[in-house]
Amino acid sequence: MTAQAQRKPAFDAARVIAAIREALPPGIAGAPLHRPHFAGREWDYLKECLDSSYVSSVGAFVTRFERAIAEIAGTKHAVAVVNGTAALHVALLLVGVTAGDEVLAPALTFVATANAISYCGAIPHFVDSEPATLGIDPQALRDYLRDIAERRGETLVNRATGRRIAAIVPMHTFGHPVDMEPLNALAAELGLAVVEDATESLGSRYKGRPSGSLSRLAAFSFNGNKIVTTGGGGAITTDDAALAERAKHLTTTAKLPHAWAFIHDAVGFNYRMPNLNAALGCAQLEQLDGFLAAKRKLAARYRRALAGVPGVSFVDEPAFARSNYWLNALLLDAEHAGERDELLRRCNEDGLLCRPVWTLMHRLAIYADCPRMPLPVAERIEAGLVNLPSGPGLALATEG
Ligand SMILES: *Cc1c(COP(=O)(O)O)cnc(C)c1O
Repeated sequence: MTAQAQRKPAFDAARVIAAIREALPPGIAGAPLHRPHFAGREWDYLKECLDSSYVSSVGAFVTRFERAIAEIAGTKHAVAVVNGTAALHVALLLVGVTAGDEVLAPALTFVATANAISYCGAIPHFVDSEPATLGIDPQALRDYLRDIAERRGETLVNRATGRRIAAIVPMHTFGHPVDMEPLNALAAELGLAVVEDATESLGSRYKGRPSGSLSRLAAFSFNGNKIVTTGGGGAITTDDAALAERAKHLTTTAKLPHAWAFIHDAVGFNYRMPNLNAALGCAQLEQLDGFLAAKRKLAARYRRALAGVPGVSFVDEPAFARSNYWLNALLLDAEHAGERDELLRRCNEDGLLCRPVWTLMHRLAIYADCPRMPLPVAERIEAGLVNLPSGPGLALATEG
C-alpha cells in the first residue's frame, strides 16, 4: 500500500449523513424522497372542475395542459394520457413496434420502460449505461450491435435470435439527459426508431434543446413522485402532426368523430387524462420554473456538502446538459459499495428516506431471459447509487 493510500480517510456513514443534512434545510426532522408541493392554484382549478362538472374525459384543462407541455418540451404537439407507461406504450406502437420485435432499452431503468415494450408483444433487449449520464452508452451500443446484429434490407436483425431490432428507448435517468446526438446518429444509420423515455426529465435540456424534443416521439410522466404531478398522468410529445393525431385517436378508444354514432376504427385504448388531473397539472406547471431553479440550488448544496466526503461522489449533470435534477444521487466508490445497505439503513433511521436505484431489469425474473449486452457500468451504478431527498418543497426551503 502506498503512503498516499494509507492516508486516505476511511468511509464513514455518519459523515455522509452529516453532509446530506448540511445540504437540507436546517432544523427538519426528516425528509421523504420526493414529496409533491402544492403552493399554486391547485385548489382553484380543481374547484373549477367540480363547479363546471367537467371532471372526466373532456374539459378545457386537458387542452390547456397539452399546450403547456408542448411548450416546455419544445414540440409542436402534446397528447395527455393517463400515465407515463401508457405514453410509452402508445409511442412505441406509433413508431411501428410490433409483436416479436426487439426493442433496445437500458437495463438501468424503472420497470415501466420494459413493461411498455412487453405490452407491444415485443422483447426488451437490455443495454449498458455510461457513467457520465447514467443512461444508454451510444459508443458501447454501437460496438455491441456491430458484433451481434446485421442489416437485412431495411431491417436490423439480431443474428442470435433472428428477430428484428425495431427501436431504441433512451431514458434520461433522474433528469440527466442521455447523449442523444451520437445515439440518434447510430439509430439513423441502422434504421432504428427512437422513443425518448423522458418520464423523469421534464424541463431538462440537452445542448440547449428540451427533453421531449430529442426524438420523433417522447413520453412524460406526471406521477405523484415526478417533478410536477397530475396525481397520475403522462404525455406524448412530437413535432409530427400526423403522429400526434394518431396518438390522440388511439388513446381515446379510436372513436371516429360523429354527433352520436359509436364507430371505432381500431382496437384503441382508454388512456385519456381526466380533466381533474389536467387541472392539477396546469397549476403545477405554473410553478415549474420555480421548482427547476430551487432544484438546481439544492443540487448545488449537495455537490458542495459531499465534495470533501471520502468514499462518495455527487452525481452531477453531464457537461452538455442542464438537468432538472429530479432526483439527486450520490455514488459510493466501488470499494465501498458493500456498505450501501448500511448507509441506507442509517439514513432511513435518521428520517432521511434515501433509496437505492432500481433492480436492474435483467435481474427481475420476468426479464431474466431477455437478450442483453454486458452491463458492467449499470451493475456498478446499481451497487453504489443512493438517491437523496429531492422534493421541490425541500428545494424551495433551502437557501443559497
Ligand atoms: C415514472 C416513470 C415511468 C412512467 O411511470 P407512470 O407511473 O406510468 O407515470 C416510466 N419510466 C420511468 C423511467 C419512470 O421513472
